Amino acid sequence: MTRILAITNQKGGVGKTTTAVNLAASLAQYGQRVLLVDLDPQGNATMGSGIDKRGLERTVYQVLLGQAKGQEVIQPSPRGGFDVLPANRDLAGAEVEMVGLKQRESRLKDCLLALAGRYDVILIDCPPALNLLTVNALVAAQAVLIPMQCEYFALEGLSDLVNTVKKVKAGLNPTIEIEGLLRVMYDPRNTLAQQVSEQLKRHFGAKVFDTVIPRNVRLAEAPSHGLAALAYDRGSKGAQAYLRLAEEFIARSRAKETA
Ligand code: ADP
Ligand code: MG
Repeated sequence: MTRILAITNQKGGVGKTTTAVNLAASLAQYGQRVLLVDLDPQGNATMGSGIDKRGLERTVYQVLLGQAKGQEVIQPSPRGGFDVLPANRDLAGAEVEMVGLKQRESRLKDCLLALAGRYDVILIDCPPALNLLTVNALVAAQAVLIPMQCEYFALEGLSDLVNTVKKVKAGLNPTIEIEGLLRVMYDPRNTLAQQVSEQLKRHFGAKVFDTVIPRNVRLAEAPSHGLAALAYDRGSKGAQAYLRLAEEFIARSRAKETA
């Protein structure tokens, strides 16, 4: 069965796109067939996968508006080993244009259902907002992966997000769950980070991934080359951490299947 995961956090700059691209590349390394859906008008996941967002005639925008089919728009990431449903700034208009459409919250879901079976995992890189695009991601997904930095206000933002997931669960997507919280840009020497990390584990228990993503400059450099860290510097701490995350994710998914 295809697992569909929304990578979301309404804060910007918390590592959503970095996680989306690097987890996609790492899962592909383990033989998984992966589709990365860029649902952010900034198109960072598209660029970071090695696809020039400026040259695209059609993107996820046309798919959401029913003007193109997913398979007509999807492209392979040249060196990532996964497929991409790309985005660019056109998508910024989608929010307004979708309001008048039927089933505006489930347009992405319908598109992804049509692709089911072709992929083992579909990752959705969300914009930094709790808007209609993010709602589309939450309706399409079986679970959410929340990257977060362990800083003072992180937990506060988290409760807004958890409430949004609860609302979606109560209405549009009764089976959605939180897959996991991922600690990113983590510095183990920082006492505050340790404290927030402990709090997270108290609140969310096993939902917190064991794998921690360290702050690593290779992860920040790789996107400017259109590469996942794995292709840019395989031995880097960042690339290795995302490989471990992929292993943990696969092990958890198998455990769920057999449960
Ligand atoms: P978001 O998609 O949530 O806005 P990004 O993934 O784009 O966040 O990350 C924000 C910035 O932080 C980017 O410049 C990215 O390269 C950098 N970054 C993300 N994760 C790490 C990390 N683990 N170590 C160092 N830099 C990181
Ligand atoms: Mg992003």
